[in-house]
Amino acid sequence: MARIVMKFGGTSVGDIERIKRAAARVKTEVEAGNEVAVVVSAMSGETNRLVDLTRNTAAMHDTREYDVVVATGEQVTIGLMSMALQDIGVNARSWMGWQLPVRTTDVHGSARILGIETDELIRRFGEGQVAVVAGFQGLAANGRVTTLGRGGSDTSAVALAAALKADRCNIYTDVDGVYTTDPRIVPRARKLDRITYEEMLELASLGAKVLQTRSVELAMNHGVRVHVRSSFVEDEGTLVVDEEEIVEQQMVNGVTYAPNEAKVTLRNVPDRPGVSAGIFGPLADANINVDMIVQNVSEDGSTTDLTFTVPRENLDRAKKVLDSVRETIAWSEMTADPGVVKVSIVGVGMRSHVGVAKTMFQALAEKGINIQVITTSEIKVSVLIADEYTELAVRALHTAFGLDAD
Ligand code: ADP
Ligand code: ASP
Ligand code: MG
Repeated sequence: MARIVMKFGGTSVGDIERIKRAAARVKTEVEAGNEVAVVVSAMSGETNRLVDLTRNTAAMHDTREYDVVVATGEQVTIGLMSMALQDIGVNARSWMGWQLPVRTTDVHGSARILGIETDELIRRFGEGQVAVVAGFQGLAANGRVTTLGRGGSDTSAVALAAALKADRCNIYTDVDGVYTTDPRIVPRARKLDRITYEEMLELASLGAKVLQTRSVELAMNHGVRVHVRSSFVEDEGTLVVDEEEIVEQQMVNGVTYAPNEAKVTLRNVPDRPGVSAGIFGPLADANINVDMIVQNVSEDGSTTDLTFTVPRENLDRAKKVLDSVRETIAWSEMTADPGVVKVSIVGVGMRSHVGVAKTMFQALAEKGINIQVITTSEIKVSVLIADEYTELAVRALHTAFGLDAD
């Protein structure tokens, strides 16, 4: 007997047929003698619809009320899933985030889970009951409903698995595992049987939306065994594991892209101490996450050009913040380009191989793709390029690192 968390994403509960199919899979696990908690997302498209409703009602809205609206998608699916389970003879009940509760911070729209109370769930496991828990939502200390950021049901599932000390956390989705790159843009992407937590963390944070970044962080910190699987076919999927569990290390295991970046350049910024703090400090204070940064000193050394990226959705706000410090910083010109994408290669094997960046730059050069900004870490190299070359770049890199399926 094992204790497992089974998470079904939006497409996997996208219509009644699919909910019934997911319920049948839950029943199989229950009949095998396992204790099961199910976490579900809203039906596919539903959260987008709810977000649009809030935007159309008021462009600048109260984020507490945003959470009240967007958290409703999951209420529907926990009810339907519980009914579907009961209908095939499985004892089940639904739980909203606030009913458990799933305690979170009060950062509405992107709250973090602080803890989940599980005593009642465990007591009911003892009576043979399946818990069907709403993903993506929680309760802040002030008594208000929160949501965890888009894709947050993955995080709900992993956090629940950690709190329940579950033996595994199965993430059922619309692809049959984690691939070397997004299989929707590279048909020759290869499924990985195993991937390390570290690589998965990089892939997720660099754009692969198959798992929410925070869920991988939690899994890594709590040693939760995450298994990404198809909700449509019985297949082994991909296991997220510690590095020691991987026998042969590839140099690069994944290629990913983040299309939601924007590039800002400030020209003729005086080259003196305190300038970077004077620019990036106010951006941080405005909760704008600056990612890639390059700085070029002018020939006479008196000024620099400063280029960096911010999330595209924050570009307008970033420009306002920068305008507000223009008096003190005295840069001469600001240009903004939302038409960029960050393409990255990831692999723990990079630690022990040289020449990875060279191969990357050559592959892009051969396709005539210009690199605007570069950043590296121990296990990844990212480049910023014009977004019209996204697919070309991802495919070229996938081939250059020998990742194409035969
Ligand atoms: P769910 O609704 O089940 O949470 P998501 O749409 O959030 O599913 O995530 C699954 C999607 O992630 C896939 O349909 C796929 O297009 C995308 N994806 C991006 N990169 C990868 C990758 N490296 N491996 C697998 N899927 C990926
Ligand atoms: N329904 C939420 C979303 O669409 C959470 C999730 O699917 O993980 O972002
Ligand atoms: Mg998702």
